[in-house]
Amino acid sequence: MLKKSLFTVLVGLLSACATSPTGRSQFIYMPDNQVDQMGLQAFDSMKSKNPISRNADYNQFAQCVALDLTKQTGGQWEVVVFEDETLNAFALPGNKIGVHTGLIKLVDNQDQLAAVIGHEIGHVLSRHSNERLSQETAVSTGLSMVQAVTQPQTALGQTALGLLGVGAQYGVLLPYSRVHETEADTIGLDLMAKAGFDPRQSINLWKKMDQASQGGQPIEFMSTHPSHGSRIDNLNQHMNHAVQLQQQARSQGKQPHCTK
Ligand SMILES: [Zn+2]
Repeated sequence: MLKKSLFTVLVGLLSACATSPTGRSQFIYMPDNQVDQMGLQAFDSMKSKNPISRNADYNQFAQCVALDLTKQTGGQWEVVVFEDETLNAFALPGNKIGVHTGLIKLVDNQDQLAAVIGHEIGHVLSRHSNERLSQETAVSTGLSMVQAVTQPQTALGQTALGLLGVGAQYGVLLPYSRVHETEADTIGLDLMAKAGFDPRQSINLWKKMDQASQGGQPIEFMSTHPSHGSRIDNLNQHMNHAVQLQQQARSQGKQPHCTK
C-alpha cells in the first residue's frame, strides 16, 4: 500500500516536469485540457460581457494577421476584435485571441500587430497559464479554479482570471514574470518571422507602447506584460536569426498582405 502511494507521488512529480519551447524546464501539474477549458470559459464570458467590434476593416485586418501567424503553429484559433479603446490584445489557452480596437488604431502596419499577437501566442505555446497555476496554487485549489473561472465576482475566480493573464479586465493584476515575458518575446519574434512578417517592426511596436504609457494613457497591456529594460536588447540579440527566418519564409512565398 505504502509502495503504491509512493509510486503515485513519484509519477505525479515526474509528470510535473515539462520543457518549454525555448528549452526551459517548467513545473506543470494541471492537465492541459482543464487549462484549455478555463481559457474557453474566460473567453466566452468576455464575449458575452464586452462589445464586439463590427468594423469590417478592423476584423479583417486582425483575422488576416492572426491567420498568417497561426498557420505556423497549427490548430484552429478563434479571433475576436473587441470594441475597446485600451491598447490591449491577449491569447488564452484553448486557442483564443482577443484584440482591442485601440491597439489596431495604434499600430502602423501588419508587422506591428503581428508582433503583439505573436507575443501573446508565445505565452500560450509556452503553457505559461498552466505554469502560473501550477506554481501559485495547491493541486486542490488549481483544480477548483477550473469552475471558479466562470465566477469573476469571487476571489478564486479573480485569481484564476489573473493567472490566465486577463485579470486586468476584472480589476486583478497578476503581471507575467520577466522570464515569461522574455520567452514570449523570443517565440513571438520567430513566429512572426516564419510567417513572413518583418521582425524588426517588433522594436518599433514596443517603443510605441512605451511612449503611449508615458503619455499617461492607461495601458492594460503594460500592466500584465510589464516593460523591462532588457526587452529590446533581447529582441535585438535574436534579430539576425529572425531576419534569416523571414527571408526563408519570403523565398517560400509567404508574403503577408494584411491592411486595416
Ligand atoms: Zn507578455
